[in-house]
Amino acid sequence: QSQELSQARIDYHAALLALQEHGTRMVCTGKMHTDRICRFDYLCYCTEAEEFVFFHSNSSFMLPNLGPRRFQPALLDLSSVEDHNTQYFNFLELPAAALKFMPKPVFVPDVTLILNRFNPDNLMHVFHDDLLPIFYTMRQYSDLDDEARLVFMEGWGEGAHFDLYRLLSSKQPLLKEQLRNFGKLMCFTKSYVGLSKMTTWYQYGFVQPQGPKANILVSGNEIRQFASSLMEKLNITTRGGEESAAEEKDEYFVVFSRSINRLILNEAELILALVQEFQMRAVTVSLEEQNFPRIIKVISGASILVSMHGAQLVSSLFLPRGAVVVELFPYAVNPEQYTPYKTLASLPGMDLQYVAWRNMVEENSVAYPERPWEQGGIAHLDKEEQDHILASKEVPRHLCCRNPEWLYRIYQDTIVDIPSLLEALRAIVKTRPNLKKAKPASTVHPGRVREPQCQTSVQATNEAKLTVSWQIPWNLKYLKVREVKYEVWIQEHGENTYMPYILPHQNYTFSENIKPFTTYLVWVRCIFNKNLLGPFADVLMCRT
Ligand code: UDP
Repeated sequence: QSQELSQARIDYHAALLALQEHGTRMVCTGKMHTDRICRFDYLCYCTEAEEFVFFHSNSSFMLPNLGPRRFQPALLDLSSVEDHNTQYFNFLELPAAALKFMPKPVFVPDVTLILNRFNPDNLMHVFHDDLLPIFYTMRQYSDLDDEARLVFMEGWGEGAHFDLYRLLSSKQPLLKEQLRNFGKLMCFTKSYVGLSKMTTWYQYGFVQPQGPKANILVSGNEIRQFASSLMEKLNITTRGGEESAAEEKDEYFVVFSRSINRLILNEAELILALVQEFQMRAVTVSLEEQNFPRIIKVISGASILVSMHGAQLVSSLFLPRGAVVVELFPYAVNPEQYTPYKTLASLPGMDLQYVAWRNMVEENSVAYPERPWEQGGIAHLDKEEQDHILASKEVPRHLCCRNPEWLYRIYQDTIVDIPSLLEALRAIVKTRPNLKKAKPASTVHPGRVREPQCQTSVQATNEAKLTVSWQIPWNLKYLKVREVKYEVWIQEHGENTYMPYILPHQNYTFSENIKPFTTYLVWVRCIFNKNLLGPFADVLMCRT
């Protein structure tokens, strides 16, 4: 069969001996189950029981050794979605001696990354929950290279976007259902279990209403590095900096349409109006009509991307810097409360502009109360509840994932009111968007200022001076920085407020608000280009 795990590549007898003698070995990172990734030697999986197995021997180890806390609630999250109770990982334990009574293990020779995909049929989930986290987990552990094997344990079939997962390594990813083809007991010679959550920017509303994650750790740079890597594997070239004058003039906007639901009912009219407004050519794409590589290619050269709210908008991560994302929301849906794509576009260094437009005219909306509940139908609800939903002008904040009012509203079709959309666009896109010229801004931060010093003098009983000076940060002499400024904070000892100053030079004499015979605490730091803050130097104690 095609996904044969070449047993020839490992010495079967040696592997079996190693397993029997050493058992399983585990070392993990992370303090909590939500930030843990574990590396195993000889982690096994019993396909009949559908359980992972840790074999104890005299030389096995398990760090962290949590005892029963391993079940409170789990060792780790198998998907990148935080603490979701359907995505937990654990294993059963057995003594290595039990191997004698078990089916002969099949060894997986590849270094394996074991994880759950969260929702492989939805493009936003595919990119945000799986592809980006897998990509960067692989970069965290150098033996998860192009030869690594991915194993998806969530139990779904390939899903609509399996080709994208295939790009992450040269080996065919394995699905849970395929594992039984290999035998009753599989043992992964070397494996990593779990996914990095470092790149995720959105929480879907399982415990509080959906919104950006509280502590976003990813910037546009990492998203764009990931995007370039995928495009390279798909042989999609961007025009880069050297486009010809002809190509530069050939700007276009993309309308990413949905053809099944949440439709734009006046798409042709909308496109004509945008062509007129921006004097650009229009390209329409949809997941139903083009393959995804083709769509990426189109989007990677676009100046503006227009689409209804929906998973297809995650494709804006392929837009060139300087492009504009225009997200359309159906009637009664408040754009402020559904911001996965706004958050993406607004990541520092993503360098995208973002505009939300919302249908405010109920008559321009077509709803589908008779459809099944998961497509927004409400016919199954009490009459009272239906009336309440129909009368409401905005979906109140809610949790994921089955709120009928939310589903009813988000699956409406929309006639886009062109004048109000153009108005929203003009407010953001002041000129014609200046595309592809945008270069990534520097993100090099200043070091600490060096040799900070203060000198003081008393002029009179109520008059004193405080001179603070310092040397430039060490890295500045190697940099071309447009604007270098320094920030000085002065705090009277014992007070809980301070005075901040922004200064252009490396010294300054303060005399206003400086009192004689007083101790001041002084902090100094460097700032590049208004927003790249350096660290403060050690605090100075200055006595007048
Ligand atoms: N989808 C699509 N065309 C449609 C409806 C859905 O391409 O007319 C895609 C959509 O982009 C997503 C998946 O099908 O990848 C599931 O769509 P759903 O409406 O369930 O999720 P949402 O887009 O609201 O996240």
